[in-house]
Amino acid sequence: MIRKQQIIQKAIAANVIDSDLTAIGIMDFDGLQKTVAAAYDAFPTNFFHTFAVKANALVEVLKVLREYGMGAEVASPGELLIAKNAGFSNKDIIFDSPAKTLNDLRTCIKNDISLNIDNLQELARVDKLMLEFPNTKSVIGFRINPQIGGGAISSTSTATATSKFGYPLADGSNRQELINIYQQRPWLTSLHTHSGSQGCALELMAKGILVITELAEEINNNTGTQQIARLDIGGGLPVNFASEEVTPSFADYAQILKQTVPVLFTDKYQVKTEFGRAIAAKNGVIITRVEYTKNSGGRHIATTHAGAQIMTRTAFLPTSWPIRVTGYSAVGLEKTAEEFEIVATDVAGPCCFAGDLICADQQLPKLVPNDYVMAHDTGGYYFSNHFDYNSLPRVGVFSVSGNDENLNFNCIRKADSLDDVANNM
Ligand SMILES: *Cc1c(COP(=O)(O)O)cnc(C)c1O
Repeated sequence: MIRKQQIIQKAIAANVIDSDLTAIGIMDFDGLQKTVAAAYDAFPTNFFHTFAVKANALVEVLKVLREYGMGAEVASPGELLIAKNAGFSNKDIIFDSPAKTLNDLRTCIKNDISLNIDNLQELARVDKLMLEFPNTKSVIGFRINPQIGGGAISSTSTATATSKFGYPLADGSNRQELINIYQQRPWLTSLHTHSGSQGCALELMAKGILVITELAEEINNNTGTQQIARLDIGGGLPVNFASEEVTPSFADYAQILKQTVPVLFTDKYQVKTEFGRAIAAKNGVIITRVEYTKNSGGRHIATTHAGAQIMTRTAFLPTSWPIRVTGYSAVGLEKTAEEFEIVATDVAGPCCFAGDLICADQQLPKLVPNDYVMAHDTGGYYFSNHFDYNSLPRVGVFSVSGNDENLNFNCIRKADSLDDVANNM
């Protein structure tokens, strides 16, 4: 928490957060660099780590992730454009949407962008495009649903029997049919699965990866060649939202994977990952100012500027996505239980519906107007999300880098202020 204390104090002192910028997101680029290094350290050199762009679609964040050695996993034309703007080369991008249009597929295959086929109807389209572009360097494979069951959060569980994602491997004679499909198409050189996300046990994820690895071995044995050269094992490493501790770590995951699927740790396959949350979440925070406080029915309520517009999951599914908060004084000093009365508090957002809360009934040091609230572990799927990119009044995003005594802030996404609105009228 020492670095975060420095970050908030300096952000206030340097007017990074001011009366217009009443909520900001901050991405710690030094932290990101360490996290990417931890991922590379945990796995051998036949692993290549891509970043799931949906977890943080900010060009400046993607640029540094690219510099730190990651590729990009994208799932829409918009994400592809964002990845290109961040400088990723086509060979380092993988396109993974379950709803690719014919033009999406053509764009990928024509430009040597790798892709994972979701279903047999998509395969029929790709078959035709392969006649048009027989020399494409796209690495193409199927996304497999290993149908191994879900985790604790149903809306982010992708490997249930009835999941919308991928080719359901265990249904009927699907497995044999897929083996035949690969045998007839030497250009199918990859297999993909993503058994996530948040809420899935590492053992469950490893089990899904074992399923595609065994399938790859069977296909390769059948064809007598190393037709499948790449295994794409997805992302889905869960994040600890309850404390500062990074657990499970990439090393924890690597250890379980190595026990379950040892062949991944030889040079036999190129292994690709698609981590999103585990890269971004703990390297970002939201800082928001307390605008007003009140007491309602015995509950202390602090109204801030961060709510459902940037903390969508937490506002709508608070039990699945609880977020840790810390209160700070107007000059950015952490408010502690020793100095301040502890009261049952709701931290509320600015949106006009009752569920717009960052947290409810939390025992927090009593917040007053002009205090600040930090919402931890919000570097992925929170303020960076493109689905609220155009509806973010007064939320700017900054990067921070440098050692704790010498922090530098850079605006990486300008906030829309009411002044901007007024100027456009
Ligand atoms: C969302 C997603 C990811 C990233 O998931 P995390 O839980 O953020 O690691 C990776 N691959 C695919 C195909 C996804 O849809």
